[in-house]
Amino acid sequence: MRLVHKYGGSSVATPEKIMAIARRLAQLKKEGKDLVVVCSAMGKTTNGLIALARQVNPSPSKREMDALLSTGEIQTVSLMAMALQALGADAISMTGFQSGFITNAVHSKAFIKEINTQRVEQYLDEGKIVVVAGFQGITEDGHITTLGRGGSDTTAVAIAAKLDCPCEIYTDVDAVYRVDPRIYPNAKPLSRISYEEMMEMAALGAGVLETRSVELAKKYGVELYLGRTLEEGKKGTTVMSQQVFFEEMPVTGISIKEHCAIVTFRHMDYNAGTAASIFRLISRNNINLDMINQTILDGKVAFSFSCSDEQAAELEEALGREPEEKALVLDIRRDLTQLSLVGVGMATHTGVATRVFDTLARCGIPYYQITTSEISISFTIDKENKEQAVTALAQEFDL
Ligand code: ADP
Ligand code: ASP
Ligand code: MG
Repeated sequence: MRLVHKYGGSSVATPEKIMAIARRLAQLKKEGKDLVVVCSAMGKTTNGLIALARQVNPSPSKREMDALLSTGEIQTVSLMAMALQALGADAISMTGFQSGFITNAVHSKAFIKEINTQRVEQYLDEGKIVVVAGFQGITEDGHITTLGRGGSDTTAVAIAAKLDCPCEIYTDVDAVYRVDPRIYPNAKPLSRISYEEMMEMAALGAGVLETRSVELAKKYGVELYLGRTLEEGKKGTTVMSQQVFFEEMPVTGISIKEHCAIVTFRHMDYNAGTAASIFRLISRNNINLDMINQTILDGKVAFSFSCSDEQAAELEEALGREPEEKALVLDIRRDLTQLSLVGVGMATHTGVATRVFDTLARCGIPYYQITTSEISISFTIDKENKEQAVTALAQEFDL
């Protein structure tokens, strides 16, 4: 039976940890599993490489960054294959390129166009444990790309989709919790969650799974499980289709996104062209907008949006080159925290927003931009109010 396992950075942070995982994988192989093992870079290697790059160039090109960052995962997979070989298991490591991940050319957040798994399948058929470097691919022109932070999850799910087999993601928490346990230690674990809610939670900041990995799992119906490394089958979370279970609570969980920014434009004449030129500027710079807000008063338009601090900085740089648009920017507020309450139950339960904003008011916590979707309510707050707001809301909704 084919199976994809994925091990995150903290799980492979030391040679001892790699050895312990290798022992378990060798055992599973003996039990008859045909394993593809996706690994992340060891510990905080990726952050270390980013810092290293900045020592030689304060704004390195994205192409070279991708080339550098991809090496983190390559270290892990070769070490994992060596560890397996030391245990007498037949194993082979593969880079993104070797394992057939073809992506578009958007360096630092490339999309997978196709995966040519012939070599992976050939090695599986030969009885090898195939250890694939996460987070990376190659363009049709042969440039190395990376899939965005946390992208090894996407590698794992994508390959499971292509091989039509389950995907088990192993990490440093034993389940997906209703709230990040690092911020709210009393949070309750979820034994299962729908693809839709997990996608929304991930997109809104629950970094436990990368959003695109959940999107792919939903699209291709991949059986997705998340649990703690070396605790297989215990009390992890299964991500599955929504219709399989009944939701009894309006709110499933809270996502927390840090380092958010709000960018406000003002005094634009009310014509479609001005806004369109700003959106073009935004998309030229590959900026993902979260909450967009437009108001029209006396024939003038003001609008604001939220994005990550990092993207706000990139936008500011781009605006420096485009004085006309720059003149329209009123304000860029940095370092905010965005909280989002997520739950399919919200579509049918009323009064969630009232409870949210009553709770914040009771705590005297100011909130800024608000946005909603069918299954979420998001707003930004000052970062120093994060713990208090999360705790009060988690208690209010019994998370
Ligand atoms: P890995 O390196 O294994 O990919 P990550 O750091 O990307 O691990 O993801 C695991 C972390 O996600 C946990 O340590 C936890 O703090 C954080 N996290 C955020 N939101 C949640 C949540 N809702 N449930 C569980 N963990 C969460
Ligand atoms: N090493 C990459 C990162 O730190 C990818 C991953 O861990 O999934 O973002
Ligand atoms: Mg991760």
